[in-house]
Amino acid sequence: MNNHLNDKICGIIFGQAIGDAIGFGTEWISKQQVTEKYPNGLHDYNQITRYNDLKGMEGWFPGDWTDDTDQMLCILDSLLEKQEIDIHDIAAKIHHWAITDGMGMGRTVYTVVHTPGFLENPYEIANKVWSDSGQKWAANGAVMRTSVLGIWQYQNLDQVKHNAEKVSRITHPDPRCLGSCVAVCLTLSNLLQGETDIEQLVSKIAKIVQSYHPEFQEYFDKAALSLDALDLDEGLNPGETDRVGYTLKTLSAGFWALQQAQSYEDGILRIIHEGGDADTNAAVAGALLGAKFGYSAIPKRWVDGLVYRQELAAKVERLMLYQRSRN
Ligand SMILES: [Mg+2]
Repeated sequence: MNNHLNDKICGIIFGQAIGDAIGFGTEWISKQQVTEKYPNGLHDYNQITRYNDLKGMEGWFPGDWTDDTDQMLCILDSLLEKQEIDIHDIAAKIHHWAITDGMGMGRTVYTVVHTPGFLENPYEIANKVWSDSGQKWAANGAVMRTSVLGIWQYQNLDQVKHNAEKVSRITHPDPRCLGSCVAVCLTLSNLLQGETDIEQLVSKIAKIVQSYHPEFQEYFDKAALSLDALDLDEGLNPGETDRVGYTLKTLSAGFWALQQAQSYEDGILRIIHEGGDADTNAAVAGALLGAKFGYSAIPKRWVDGLVYRQELAAKVERLMLYQRSRN
């Protein structure tokens, strides 16, 4: 395994965690409110005052990531322990996190994991919850945790696609959620394989996921156009339909960053200043940017400021060791 590959793998995991941690500062507020709250912009964890504003946030400090990365780590821990995709083990780890911590947990995950029978048959329960929603729920709770599955078995793209779907179905069976996970994971795997032609890669991925739902094309088109076109705070301004937390919104933020950002920092800063589901949008974008630019391109202040930096580094090291033993 070469250093270049290690830099990308590390970039994906740290890229996600850092995007999540800094994006938390502008989560669930409009772009206008971001400007009011941070007149000089948000650049560092210690500017985030939300920790003091919210009740029940004890134990959450500047530089701490949120549910997006916690759940990604449930998957990573399971992979390291079982050395394969074990749906029941991943479900058990997400359930354990949900009942012992669960800070920032979204509605879909909360409902699914608290429905009796989840541990025995997660797919059945997740399908029931989705059906009960009128097959309408297509939240970003699966795509936000999927990045590690773009690393696992990255040499085999069919397997990566299969794994991404399998793990999404534990809580999010909607085809838009499955396709979002597949799009992110396949893109990460291609980047790890050494793909450098981003335009060609994005058009290949867009074609693959079109079969999941017709709406994918619209969001890939917007992502190629501009950040404004994505309207990431849609639903947080008067009179707007709520689209915050929609899986295709988050996916398109990631693909905008992959195509348009000049650097990891540029992409993350521009996304979080749009408001909306900023931590999740930046977590997904952060993984993609981390794969493109590498860990070495992530600002040192953001790496050093992560509360659980050492724990994360130890997990990534174990993942890289495993990958090395497989090559
Ligand atoms: Mg979150």
